[in-house]
Amino acid sequence: MSEEHAQFEPAEQQAIRAAVAAGKPAICPRDGATMTSRAIGGGSFGLGYARRREWLICPTCKRSLIFDRRRGTRT
Ligand SMILES: [Zn+2]
Repeated sequence: MSEEHAQFEPAEQQAIRAAVAAGKPAICPRDGATMTSRAIGGGSFGLGYARRREWLICPTCKRSLIFDRRRGTRT
C-alpha cells in the first residue's frame, strides 16, 4: 500500500512549526532528515506581501506541510 498523499500528524506538524518559528531548521520527526523549504509566492508581489508561506518538504519520506510565517509589526 502506498501513501501518495502522506502527511504529518497534527502533533508532528506542531513540532516542526515550533522549531521553524524558533529559527531552527525543520527536522522531519519521522526520519530526522533536514527538510527543505520552498517559498510560496503570492504572485509577483511577493516581497511586499505581509504574509509569507513556506512549503516544507522532507526529501526522504516526501511528507510536506505548509508553514505560514506571519510577520508582526516591525520595530
Ligand atoms: Zn521524513
